[in-house]
Amino acid sequence: MIVMKFGGSSVQDAVAIRRVASIVASRLAEQPLVVVSAMGGVTDGLVQVTEAAEQSELGLACEMLDGIREKHILASVEMLNSAEATAFALKLDARLAEATALVTEIAAQGSATAGQRSHLLTFGEVLSSELVVAAFNALGVPSAHADARKLIVTNARHPVASPLATATREKLMQAIPELLEQNLVPVLGGFIASSESGEVTTLGRGGSDYSAAIIGAALMAGRIEIWTDVSGILTTDPRICPNAQRIAEISFHEATELACFGAKVLHPATLLPAIEHDIPVAVLNSHKPNEAGTIIRAIASQGPSSFRAIAVKRNISVFNVHAPSHVESLRFLDDLFSLLRWHHLQSEIVAISGASASVAVEGGRELVKLTSELEALGEVDFQPEMAIICMVGEDIRGRVGIASEVFGILAAAGINIRMIAQGSSEISVSFVVEEKDAVKSVQQLHRQLFEQPSVTHSHATSAAPHKIAQA
Ligand code: ADP
Ligand code: ASP
Ligand code: MG
Repeated sequence: MIVMKFGGSSVQDAVAIRRVASIVASRLAEQPLVVVSAMGGVTDGLVQVTEAAEQSELGLACEMLDGIREKHILASVEMLNSAEATAFALKLDARLAEATALVTEIAAQGSATAGQRSHLLTFGEVLSSELVVAAFNALGVPSAHADARKLIVTNARHPVASPLATATREKLMQAIPELLEQNLVPVLGGFIASSESGEVTTLGRGGSDYSAAIIGAALMAGRIEIWTDVSGILTTDPRICPNAQRIAEISFHEATELACFGAKVLHPATLLPAIEHDIPVAVLNSHKPNEAGTIIRAIASQGPSSFRAIAVKRNISVFNVHAPSHVESLRFLDDLFSLLRWHHLQSEIVAISGASASVAVEGGRELVKLTSELEALGEVDFQPEMAIICMVGEDIRGRVGIASEVFGILAAAGINIRMIAQGSSEISVSFVVEEKDAVKSVQQLHRQLFEQPSVTHSHATSAAPHKIAQA
């Protein structure tokens, strides 16, 4: 069997869902299981619904839920006959009644608990998965809904819960093989799950990719396909560099590093289950299904450049902390990281020299409040509005002159580097620049390292889509 995950823009309206149905129909011989995100924009809409409810603006919150209802109804009537559309509308209204009850509770409280916030966000995938099942059946792809909230088991942490592999596998094994045996395509909402005690949880924003990988690993899928709105993983974010080129093959480690440093095309945790079971992952474009995408596998063939791709992560702040010279460095670092952990801050990159450290963390000006606490450890310099740029490539390992090549390009562009780190895996070089310089930095690096005639990605157009399917 294979797992096929379709993101928000792949199921954003009836046209997109029809396209998905025909892509899935083309894979029926491989026994696909389909994971869908909420329709494009719906999860963001639900965040706004929560905010309105927290401000006790119940009317506004309900109006926004109505907008979400309309979006699903509109798509349904374009794909279903009137009896099917009526049946779907009944289901939709029952779900939305649950959402409205939750919103009413939040508005009465004036604030949402972390659990209520997660619960409200799950309605996007609950609704889209039911719409997609109805559409598939109407369009001739026999399918059955499987409720991910009953099948993916996590701990009870909000808003980002962690999956419990054994319990999840048991539940999936009880439910999915029998659907596949009946030649039905199981359709599940991504992103959503439940704790062992039955509390609704989510895997964090962008988590549908992760759902697909969790399911793929649990059911030992032959391949996991991530269908999105770009033709694979590109050499950088195409919104920054329209000339970004498709990467035909990339290693698990390179793709994970890119995802961790901001390449939104994959959720950072996605590849962990796939790595563990050595399941190839393909990234493909649902808007252009005939275009070859990217295949992610344990070992990928080397491209023409030492670098595979560039990622950028914005909204970063740097704390530079200098302890007095008599302080023992291990003690200082222990105290520093305990304090960050206490505030649930994860260090993105760290540079250490004796009893001085620079730590880049995700977050903006609001983190200034930590300065006074950090001052207990030494002198503190707080720098908000930064960005991390991460250059990734297995071929970087052990290469001489890589750093000077990168920093030479930035120096020539007049860009000041605030902090530098080489990943412990040695497959990446990361550095911090001011956020205002991030776009220019990526564009300069991309132009010099990927767009020069000597660095054409010759492999970029070689693989036909069916080749990826067989990989
Ligand atoms: P989906 O809704 O299908 O999950 P996302 O919006 O989460 O899609 O991810 C796809 C987007 O990721 C692309 O539209 C692109 O703008 C962005 N992106 C960032 N970095 C990269 C990259 N290196 N390669 C491809 N896409 C990237
Ligand atoms: N719908 C969720 C989000 O927008 C999960 C996903 O799309 O992967 O974050
Ligand atoms: Mg995504």
